[in-house]
Amino acid sequence: MKDIKKFISGFRNFRNEYFCREDAPFELLCRGQSPTTMVIACSDSRTDPSFIMQCEPGEIFVVRNVANIVPPYERDAGYHGVSSAIEYAVKVLQISNLIVLGHSLCGGIDALMHDDKVRHTEFLYKWLSVMGPVREEVVDHFGEVNKKSCTACEMAGILQSLRNLLTFPWITERVEAGTLNLHGWYFDMESGQLLSYLRQTKTFEPLEIPTTYDE
Ligand SMILES: [Zn+2]
Repeated sequence: MKDIKKFISGFRNFRNEYFCREDAPFELLCRGQSPTTMVIACSDSRTDPSFIMQCEPGEIFVVRNVANIVPPYERDAGYHGVSSAIEYAVKVLQISNLIVLGHSLCGGIDALMHDDKVRHTEFLYKWLSVMGPVREEVVDHFGEVNKKSCTACEMAGILQSLRNLLTFPWITERVEAGTLNLHGWYFDMESGQLLSYLRQTKTFEPLEIPTTYDE
């Protein structure tokens, strides 16, 4: 109950700031949203992209899921929540940046790496299996599952999600036309850094200037 009370009083503060002021932002925002950027982030309670990037309401369109995974383009009978959010952002909102935001100490990637622990789950194991080939590659390379290989898998997962984004024909089209930029970012919560994947060096480097992934 303590948490719930805190949320309610938090909303009260938010309302005072965003609704009751003279230039209250929501007066304008109620007429519509026009974010230029979509962020695909992890559900982890420590990695809220609006919070860590200090965004205002209306600035970023966000979808969050376990391990910030983008599934490949699949036209089947599934419900495809992530793909439909991406479709809305690209086709309706016409966003010009799409960021896949991974992070260190990711419980989702840890579960993928220690997949015996989640093999019994109803949905989680199947969801994480999108990254099965990435896991295999990382385990082959490191020979064991440890902190180093989990970090590598967190980063490799971002790259796989970027490759999966390019399996959507209308994303490739926009990327090739130069109207949509893809970015692979990594929030290192231990060092407090935001890194970005650089295609030139094939490494994640501290973010200073905007970089794009357009392979
Ligand atoms: Zn995570």
